[in-house]
Amino acid sequence: MKTIGYCAHDQNSPLVPFTFERRALRSNDVAMEILYSGVCHSDLHTARNDWGWTTYPNIPGHEIVGRVIEVGSDVSKYKIGDHVAVGCMVDSCQECEPCHHHEEQFCENGMTQTYNSPDRQTGDITFGGFSKHLIVREEFVLNVPQTLDLSRVAPLLCAGITTYSPLKTWNVTKGSRVGVIGMGGLGHMAVKLAAGMGAEVTVISRSENKKADAMELGADHFLISENSDQMAEKASYFDLIIDTVPVKHDLNPYTPLLKIDGTLVLVGQIGPVAEPLTTPLIMGRRRIAGSLIGGIKETQEMLDFCAEHNILPECEMIRMDEINHAFERMERSDVHYRFVIDMATLEAEA
Ligand SMILES: [Zn+2]
Ligand SMILES: [Zn+2]
Repeated sequence: MKTIGYCAHDQNSPLVPFTFERRALRSNDVAMEILYSGVCHSDLHTARNDWGWTTYPNIPGHEIVGRVIEVGSDVSKYKIGDHVAVGCMVDSCQECEPCHHHEEQFCENGMTQTYNSPDRQTGDITFGGFSKHLIVREEFVLNVPQTLDLSRVAPLLCAGITTYSPLKTWNVTKGSRVGVIGMGGLGHMAVKLAAGMGAEVTVISRSENKKADAMELGADHFLISENSDQMAEKASYFDLIIDTVPVKHDLNPYTPLLKIDGTLVLVGQIGPVAEPLTTPLIMGRRRIAGSLIGGIKETQEMLDFCAEHNILPECEMIRMDEINHAFERMERSDVHYRFVIDMATLEAEA
């Protein structure tokens, strides 16, 4: 299938239109027309080879919402016209223990990522959602509940599941005390989802800038991390803190805020953090943990939860040809709170 997307040809150039072939439909494949694509920080990092593992040409995009246009002969869950979604993964071995436990993101043989990852059968590098069409095996396609506003669903597929999964893993429920560090794409979803689960939510931020937004999105409290009196007041307070900060930072101001057995879970920064002090960990049996997106089953559960509670990201809709400007704004954290590309704007270029 011939289609068009936006690709980076190397780490220094802007994304440009690119015509390419999607694979022929396999018997268990779903083909979709992409309607909306969210823009994640990983897209920017990968396009610019910040992590050193990018293959060019690179078509980013792993927050994808579309409409089914064709299905393979063995597909049973979807039919032409259905509204569907794809997140960060498009395949896994389906045979190892994590795969059997619906945690394909931890597949022992390596999940296939939506872009910049070799196809398990052909070895061809996958191309992501900044494109007109996508072909994915049925098991990795999600159903979009009808009541959700389709134009705002896309960021749930990465930002949504990345924050939903730790909330579930650490059993957040009515009355749990949840802290959220950093209020960007991930953080604002953590606030909405935790509030939706009935938790008492506190946004922890360096300055008061985002206080009004935080309260509007569902936070109960706002804690300024530069204010030592406020921080001391919240010592041993939280059951769970979700740390969404995407750059190297110091965890030591935050660990004393946890209750005994409380957990600070990292979802933003892949790479080094400042040297952690063990005293607050040992003296309070506190934990520092990490979490990576979520499995397909849990991602579907998250979409259904968002439909039930009418939870959607705050989005800024852009045209496909505005992507390079959007990347620049993301670097300055100048986005409220996620860019979504209206993929109909790519049609004109094709
Ligand atoms: Zn992402
Ligand atoms: Zn596996």
